[in-house]
Amino acid sequence: MKPAPFRYLAPRSVQEALTMLAEDGEAKVLAGGQSLIPVLNMRLASPATLVDINRIGHRQIEDAEGLGQVAVSESGVRVGALVRHAHLEADESAYQRIPLLRLALSQVAHPAIRNRGTTVGSIAHADPAGEMPAILVLLKGSVSIASARGTRVVEAADFFQGPMEADLAQDELVTHVTFTATPGTGAAYAEVARRHGDYALCGVGATVVRDPDNADHVLDAAVSFVSTTPVPTRLDLTAAFTTSDPWPAVEEAVNEHIEPESDLHASADYRRQLALTLTRRVLREALAATPTPAGEAR
Ligand SMILES: Cc1cc2nc3c(=O)[nH]c(=O)nc-3n(C[C@H](O)[C@H](O)[C@H](O)COP(=O)(O)OP(=O)(O)OC[C@H]3O[C@@H](n4cnc5c(N)ncnc54)[C@H](O)[C@@H]3O)c2cc1C
Repeated sequence: MKPAPFRYLAPRSVQEALTMLAEDGEAKVLAGGQSLIPVLNMRLASPATLVDINRIGHRQIEDAEGLGQVAVSESGVRVGALVRHAHLEADESAYQRIPLLRLALSQVAHPAIRNRGTTVGSIAHADPAGEMPAILVLLKGSVSIASARGTRVVEAADFFQGPMEADLAQDELVTHVTFTATPGTGAAYAEVARRHGDYALCGVGATVVRDPDNADHVLDAAVSFVSTTPVPTRLDLTAAFTTSDPWPAVEEAVNEHIEPESDLHASADYRRQLALTLTRRVLREALAATPTPAGEAR
């Protein structure tokens, strides 16, 4: 099918884009188009106007707002709205600061889609089957938003409000997302999909921080899920690791937290089993990946 007719606008600056979004109450942002264009083609949405942000910072025009940039600092990795999944996946300094980014990005769709789709677009889309919303909440990241009315920053925990529903008004543009880096973190990600590149039947990310003075003491342990919770959320499992055998408490907490559904691809029971098995696996890997005081992996 073909999309319903729409007006196409291609602003050259963030300010111009914000004015266009403010002036047309039915305008929608077009980034990589890897989610939006299928939705338009299936006529699940028919916005009057598309505001294509891809020309911002294009060629000679200065990318004043850094929309096309990955900025790595001590505190984390800031990703602009025009950074493609493949760009972030390949960025060596982002990988050194937060290895979990590359682990998860390598599981997002196929290379052709990662070459075009943006990480920020995936977060704005707020699909509970997307890897990057789950990673953003797990890392306690944040979302930077601009509109003609001003700017604001929303914590990831508050940004995702429902399946495909985010704290984002029609006239707002996500300019950046920031993935927070916590020193001493070990992390892991695993998922099961019917074919490599398909949306995951279930995916789980984990982070663990150990006490540098007492390696047996876990200061923080958490997981987040792909395709098994309606909204990406961070499940804090630190309390389970105060006991000598954390696994019964981990299993109980996961069972209470997830809400898997049955569909054409897998039953809810099967997804539940995957969530439990993958949680154990990624937590073990994250524990093993925590740096030693000397900076060497365990
Ligand atoms: C065959 C296929 C398989 C896929 N598999 C996976 C997968 O396994 N895992 C996964 O996570 N994703 C998958 N995707 C989706 C892919 O990751 C998309 O790139 C991503 O979800 C959306 O990014 P985009 O840049 O293409 O956004 P678009 O499609 O351009 O936009 C998506 C939505 O976000 C809004 N939006 C985009 N950018 C902004 C912004 N800066 N500010 C405000 N609103 C914005 C748009 O208005 C639209 O509503 C798949 C896509 C396809 C076609």
